[in-house]
Amino acid sequence: MKAKVIIIGAGMSGISAGKQLSDAGITDLLILEATDRIGGRIRKTEFAGMNIEMGANWVEGVAHEGEARNDDVNPIWSIVNNELGLTTFCSNYDNIASNTYNEDGTGLYDEDFVKRTIDEANEVQKKGNKISERPRSDDISVMAMQRFFEHTPYGPTKPVDMVIDYYMNDYEFAEPPRVTSVQSTHPLPTFVKFGENVYFVADQRGYESVVHYIAGQYLETDGLGAIVDPRLMLNKAVQEITYSEDCVTVKTEDGWLYEAEYVMVSVSLGVLQSNLITFSPPLPEWKTFSLYQFDMAVYTKIFLKFPKRFWPVGSGTEFFLYASSRRGYYPIWQHLEKEYPGCSILLVTITDDESRRIEQQSDEQTKAEAMEVLRKMFPDRDVPDATDIFVPRWWSDKFFRGSFSNWPIGVDGYEYDQIGKPVGRVHFTGEHTSEHYNGYVHGAYLAGKHSADILIDHAKREK
Ligand code: FAD
Repeated sequence: MKAKVIIIGAGMSGISAGKQLSDAGITDLLILEATDRIGGRIRKTEFAGMNIEMGANWVEGVAHEGEARNDDVNPIWSIVNNELGLTTFCSNYDNIASNTYNEDGTGLYDEDFVKRTIDEANEVQKKGNKISERPRSDDISVMAMQRFFEHTPYGPTKPVDMVIDYYMNDYEFAEPPRVTSVQSTHPLPTFVKFGENVYFVADQRGYESVVHYIAGQYLETDGLGAIVDPRLMLNKAVQEITYSEDCVTVKTEDGWLYEAEYVMVSVSLGVLQSNLITFSPPLPEWKTFSLYQFDMAVYTKIFLKFPKRFWPVGSGTEFFLYASSRRGYYPIWQHLEKEYPGCSILLVTITDDESRRIEQQSDEQTKAEAMEVLRKMFPDRDVPDATDIFVPRWWSDKFFRGSFSNWPIGVDGYEYDQIGKPVGRVHFTGEHTSEHYNGYVHGAYLAGKHSADILIDHAKREK
């Protein structure tokens, strides 16, 4: 089968690239998607009788109400809020100082004590912003920045310090401060450009309806909105990409061959770092070097359903922390009572090594660990066993190999640019190629547009 452009992957970036190409008159497209759905890492799933988000959940980077932003509106927010009217809730973390639990079964920490820790950590972050003003070669890790301003050689070591540190860093980047680059994250371009609010999408249509909305603007749909366009082919896992000066041939796992003038590879950085897809000839060293240097982080959202609620609800209770002497052990909890009153569901977030460990054990084991933590947090309550648990496994999934990219220390702007650069007729997109917003849904959306523009230019030059 022949097309002008083959897009590999139907996540946000691949679908966004397709729309940009279509708008430019390139409609001879073929989108090959390995799974049986579009949306990629934006994915709803049924849990305990309702739809929850196992991947992206927040629109990050939204202005405060009344704050003038002119053109700087997060494009995903425009679709979520204005076009689709998805139900969202602004997440407010102002009260975590009064919601931080001890691991020794004595309940909550003193609010003022936790608040002081947060204030100190905020001060260090602010000073870190100054480092970003220096030349790129002066970049240091977030942990080095902490040493610099706090003189804590090993980083925070007490349970409260560690959980606050985790909340301020790992909860956003899914990797610890010793890994993350200060210059790429302090301040965070997403918040500077679009605003500091984050909105939790809690809509039964799912966050993925944003991807369907964009796809529906150029792919044929049936009366119910399902995509029926033959240019989108599901269950087509690409195995091999052969490229030459004249064309590209793509081979799928089921033995089919597809030919095109150009290919747009939108699979995750984790997939590119694995050997799922073979390139022939192999990608040049400058390309693989840049791909292997960047990080694919792991962020896991575990959902637990209970026969009854035993945690406090009401204003200022949504997010609560477990301060463990083991950093990153079931640290950040969220109840969904605001979003779904009476649902009795808790969401706990785990990252990095803890995610990898948990992905490899049984859900029963994970449930037992989470129950032990909850019983330590609420020693005076009757805490029943969860009746249901959902543990996503993004890292083990060969079509993702992690959750989103994180900018590690040691990669400069030039090296980062190489990740998104085409190799002959092979073009690349994905959140990990976004100029300023890697790791986010809006990053994937904007990267798709940007990479398509490069391809369009390439095609024009060849005319
Ligand atoms: P993907 O969505 O990975 O799309 C690539 C597509 O390629 C996939 O559909 C995949 O199936 C397909 N594919 C892979 N291999 C092959 C192959 N061999 N052949 C054919 N197809 C293939 N972002 C936010 O903005 N806010 C959040 O709250 C947030 N939270 C997150 C939480 C989690 C748990 C995860 C996993 C992600 C989160 N993100 C969040 C990040 C966001 O989801 C991603 O940045 C974005 O969705 C990535 O889109 P993409 O198109 O780059 O990649």
